[in-house]
Amino acid sequence: MKEMTKAYDPASFERRWYEHWWHAGHFKPAPAPGKPGYVIVIPPPNVTGSLTIGHVLNNTIQDVLVRWARMRGCETLWLPGMDHAGIATQNVVKQDLRARGVEMRDLGREAFVEQVWKWKENYGGKIIQQLRLLGASCDWSRERFTLDEGLSLAVEEVFKRLFRKGLIYRGEYLINWCIGCQTAVSDEEVEHQQISTHFWHIKYPVKGSEQGIVVATTRPETMLGDTAVAIHPGDPRYQEIKDRTLILPLAGREIPIIEDPYVDPQFGTGALKITPGHDPNDFDIGRRHGLPVVSVIGPDGRMNENAGAFAGMDRFAARQAVVEALKKEGLLVKTEPFEHAVGHCYRCKTMIEPTISRQWFVRMQPLAARAIEAARTGAVRFVPHRWEKTYLHWLENVRDWCISRQLWWGHRIPVWYCERCGRMVLTGEHGAACSQCGAQSWRQDEDVLDTWFSSWLWPFSTLGWPKETEDLARYYPGQTLVTAPDIIFFWVARMVMAGYEFIGEKPFSDVYLHGVVRDEQGRKMSKSLGNSPDPIDLIQEYGADALRFTMLMLTPTGNDILFGKKKVEVGRDFANKLWNAGRFILFNLRDGETEEGLPGELAPEDRWILSRLSQVIADTDRWLAEYRFTDVAHLLYDFTWKEFCAWYLEIAKVRIQKGSPAEGARARRVLLWVYRRILALLHPLMPFITEEIHAHLPGGEPELILGPWPEADAARIDRQAEAELAFFQEIVVAIRNVRSGMNVPPAKFVPVGMRVPEEAAAVLRRLEMPLGALARVETLTMAPDYEKPRHAASAVAGPAEVFVLLEGVIDLDFERARLLKELGRLEGAQESSRKKLANLDFLERAKPEVVAAEREKLGQLEGQRAKVETALKALEG
Ligand SMILES: [Zn+2]
Ligand SMILES: [Zn+2]
Repeated sequence: MKEMTKAYDPASFERRWYEHWWHAGHFKPAPAPGKPGYVIVIPPPNVTGSLTIGHVLNNTIQDVLVRWARMRGCETLWLPGMDHAGIATQNVVKQDLRARGVEMRDLGREAFVEQVWKWKENYGGKIIQQLRLLGASCDWSRERFTLDEGLSLAVEEVFKRLFRKGLIYRGEYLINWCIGCQTAVSDEEVEHQQISTHFWHIKYPVKGSEQGIVVATTRPETMLGDTAVAIHPGDPRYQEIKDRTLILPLAGREIPIIEDPYVDPQFGTGALKITPGHDPNDFDIGRRHGLPVVSVIGPDGRMNENAGAFAGMDRFAARQAVVEALKKEGLLVKTEPFEHAVGHCYRCKTMIEPTISRQWFVRMQPLAARAIEAARTGAVRFVPHRWEKTYLHWLENVRDWCISRQLWWGHRIPVWYCERCGRMVLTGEHGAACSQCGAQSWRQDEDVLDTWFSSWLWPFSTLGWPKETEDLARYYPGQTLVTAPDIIFFWVARMVMAGYEFIGEKPFSDVYLHGVVRDEQGRKMSKSLGNSPDPIDLIQEYGADALRFTMLMLTPTGNDILFGKKKVEVGRDFANKLWNAGRFILFNLRDGETEEGLPGELAPEDRWILSRLSQVIADTDRWLAEYRFTDVAHLLYDFTWKEFCAWYLEIAKVRIQKGSPAEGARARRVLLWVYRRILALLHPLMPFITEEIHAHLPGGEPELILGPWPEADAARIDRQAEAELAFFQEIVVAIRNVRSGMNVPPAKFVPVGMRVPEEAAAVLRRLEMPLGALARVETLTMAPDYEKPRHAASAVAGPAEVFVLLEGVIDLDFERARLLKELGRLEGAQESSRKKLANLDFLERAKPEVVAAEREKLGQLEGQRAKVETALKALEG
């Protein structure tokens, strides 16, 4: 047997174990006849990413589930990989090049993409190395990248299938244009932020008349692109002029008045300016009425040639200029302050400009039906359940998905155009001559696909699809997806759609959505606030196990986590406790001793700890299946620390040191038996320390990572033993309290008497040796009619009245004097507190919380005085 190091030193073994597990092949799925499979695909982190506290939470939870399944003998696969993260990565490399004086556009597409791949080789995927430090037991031999050859093939195949089915189309649509990123972004990539602005009321004159219609807008610069004014059908205010023509101010164009039920007659003047080129609702109204689309803002955020005198101005400068010009013409009726939500790019935070553009779209409605059904029938289950509503709401109102991006880094759209006649064909069909004009020259679409167009295929593309691989047959569908709620639309819902559409089967059964990690004041973690500690620093300081365990203790199912660096100390202290228990057990074991089977004859404390263990195993199993990670962490923490270490181990110490050799051996066997199962239960949460200790124990082969997982044994549940030990603990605590109340030196042994019914006395007699040691009892006298002796302090514990005899234990006169003095001090303090509370002036002027605090103080003084009086009475009696 190797000795364990004196101090818990995670740095000395964490990396060693990780290398060992990996090289021994333990992270690869092992065929398990008769056992179910268990598969999780990792939410692929961005290739540009590095580990955050949020990743620590997400990946620790996945690792707990995977290790738990592996220990239970399931054929377990945790499939890892990374996302190419189109916009994010392109921006990083673009900035990187710019810092070296190279502009991306000058480099050209091919050379730039080459640079990005180079960057990926050198700097990308840092997070994968960091996940190893955390202990993530992924099968790295199956690691995938959304832009690797296989996944690119899957993307192309999916595009072609949807295209042929008519579910992918190209069209002129109003899309969310990001001026910062210079690309279209999907609705889900737009963040709505509340901003303060104004409502400008503008008069649009009726042609050849003094009359006019007043419209209100937050974006006066877009009026240059108006093509109508809309009113609610039959609005009486406008009956007289509804067939007339309006003159668009500043532009001088003629525009019609149209009637549309979308207009709310109660709102403002009941007249709405219609700008189909820059507003999604206006775009829809424009389609209904066949209005022309006039775009006045270009992709660079500047007013374009359609803006007349304002052409070339930045969109925000143009807003001011338009307002000034309207004022001059006397057409600005009113300006009022206004607050509303405006879309911003979730990547670069630039205000989104709705813009008309030719883009590629996926028709989502036909794909949504089965994904909706999957949640309704429970085929896909959400934990916590409340997220199902969010998922369904989005799917039921799903809009077409804009999938083209004006980027260079990503999957290029697999569509080619004939250079002579413009005919469009799919990749693979562009080798031959154009069937329409006979030309042989093709040009590929310049755009790439949205990153999520590869991520939505992740659960099966990573297993080799569209090829019919063995992995696909074995490991699809998986069981659980662990992710954060902010990507339910981006990712979760779309994966469910893709699973049904391309494989005919859901991708997973459970979606566990954990909370967001915040700082202790509830703020989001961010670099700019400086409130997000680097997990790698925390691992170096406290160990990966301490960090993992702390995160799990802090994460109430699906709610947000308030995290601070200091909190990791809880995990570290627990690891220390576990380590020290292991050292104690190892130190006491005799050569050749193992826990092979339990002793036939068990002491009450043995029956108690085995009963509790069985209950703890059953609860752990049930709660892990319900994703109640915090409950499991607290359960194992309390059982290990407050029951096993604080009581069972202390009692065992006494039996080993003072009992017969047979008694000592019996205690050691149970001690080892329970401790080994505690290590197994904790392994999914704290893999490194448990494996390290396990290796030191007799029979420490094979590794703990392979199990077996402890089994709950209902036959071991022993309510009587639990009640007896609860009574025993109550007695020990009562004696300890009396001792400290009477200032008895901790090391001193005291005589104890008890008035106690025979049945309860019998329980204590069986535990007399540990009672003596744990409460420092010199002699124990018990009788149902025990009379209170002189100079004894008493307490009640269960059915027993306990007397600690003080004669000869403490200096009675000295103690009496000390207590009297204390009594005087307390009475004085009470008196002044009462006076204060009787003072009307104080009651009137002081803050309510100050008065409340004073009342509470008085209550506490009363309690303290009662204790001192009881102690004094004990000395007198
Ligand atoms: Zn942007
Ligand atoms: Zn052609």
